[in-house]
Amino acid sequence: MSKIMPPAHPCDTSYLRDCDDGDKLKEECGIFGVVGVADASNFVALGLHALQHRGQEAGGIVSHDAEHGFQSARRFGYVRDNFTSQAVMETLPGPLAIGHVRYSTAGSKGQTAIRDVQPFFGEFAMGGAAIAHNGNITNANALRRELIERGSIFQSSSDSECIIHLMARSLQRNIPERMEDALRRVEGAFSVVAMTRTKLIGVRDPLGVRPLVLGRIGDGWVLSSETCALDIIGAEFIREIEPGEMVVATAGNPVESHFPFRRQKSRFCIFEHVYFSRPDSILGGRSVYETREAIGRELAKESPVDADIVCPVPDSGTPAAIGYSLQSGIPYAMGIIRNQYMGRTFIEPTEQIRNMGVRLKLNVNRALIRGKRVILVDDSVVRGTTSRKIKEMILDAGAAEVHFRIASPPTAWPCFYGVDTPKREKLLAATMSEDEMRAHLQVDSLKFISLDGLYRAVGEVKGRDPKQPQYCDACFSGEYPVIPADQINDGFQMKPAAE
Ligand code: SF4
Repeated sequence: MSKIMPPAHPCDTSYLRDCDDGDKLKEECGIFGVVGVADASNFVALGLHALQHRGQEAGGIVSHDAEHGFQSARRFGYVRDNFTSQAVMETLPGPLAIGHVRYSTAGSKGQTAIRDVQPFFGEFAMGGAAIAHNGNITNANALRRELIERGSIFQSSSDSECIIHLMARSLQRNIPERMEDALRRVEGAFSVVAMTRTKLIGVRDPLGVRPLVLGRIGDGWVLSSETCALDIIGAEFIREIEPGEMVVATAGNPVESHFPFRRQKSRFCIFEHVYFSRPDSILGGRSVYETREAIGRELAKESPVDADIVCPVPDSGTPAAIGYSLQSGIPYAMGIIRNQYMGRTFIEPTEQIRNMGVRLKLNVNRALIRGKRVILVDDSVVRGTTSRKIKEMILDAGAAEVHFRIASPPTAWPCFYGVDTPKREKLLAATMSEDEMRAHLQVDSLKFISLDGLYRAVGEVKGRDPKQPQYCDACFSGEYPVIPADQINDGFQMKPAAE
């Protein structure tokens, strides 16, 4: 077993994206696991800290060692506030641990109970197992009904708990095989990190909608939602787990790989490139930062406009704004400054403070803006509420013109694969044309990158293949790669085939 010690826990959370005023799609969960290092839970805490942008509501860690068996700690709030004290971390000993950070996408959304916080644990005849799930099971309601009718007793309202109950019902002899059995019944998007007493297991759904990567640390192995969390613990990035692949890792041994599902073409979430993943992560062999800069360049080619400065809506619009500036030759400027120390908790207490909204988090650099024709680059428009407030702030500061350029196509459809989206009728693009949105936001111009432009920016030189799209882009196109069965049963109407 490696004796690598974890680095000091950093507390810089400046990348946390709290400046959205409830007007961004919210990525859901981050997962992380380590086998083969002393005090694996410390590494998991650091990994979860680096994945905090994927979920800030709650987090949990499960560890195992021979003397204490499985141990777990699940808490509400940030990793840095819960998993840095010696007292907590000493309760999570051992060379094997997994963890999860959560922003609820299923279960008791917005009023999470601690029982909904992952990882989940199950005791089976052949030993215990813990699992952490990123994604959303689109047939969870049907599975849950069936399992309850057959005697399962659910502890949580989370769709992910179905996996544990399906494993309990499997007749396979070992835990990885039971997990394969269980996941064959599951529809939707899932990246899973799981552990037994000795094994670290990682699985991606057959379409590979959500990310999962493999890293190496000493003689041990790491699984993580994103590569940025490998960097923080000094692990080497080995490769992405392939769509439909299950890997089983033990300390000091090569990783075993299986493909338990019918092989299908990948449909990775294209929004991970636009917004969800951290810009210092690598996705599909490409730097997320470089992809976002390429999106900005495409946007400048598709939608040029005469202006004096290009400003990002910080922080997520920054790389695309740099790309737009480089392509157009219009100077890049920090016209909006973000308060790096604005936390979520501060905006909770009073309605008066809450009403100050976006001004608490973003401020206009007046000296720079006054009299200028400003191009504002943002990653997306969801409800449009934040875009409208930012436009007002820019005009208040004396801007001559405001032109919005958006680094994603209009978000007109909800995501059912592990991303929190408002109901369809709340999405601005679901009810308005681009011109109507421009009028609603009262800006001089508004342009979104085209779907083809976005595909080119992520490396598909010929753009989107309409017969067999290379990515999941359902929130833009309305073409869902997995039928959202539960949602259809609840009244959701898919886009008609001919539309
Ligand atoms: S619907 Fe959108 S956000 Fe959801 S997985 Fe597909 S591309 Fe990603």
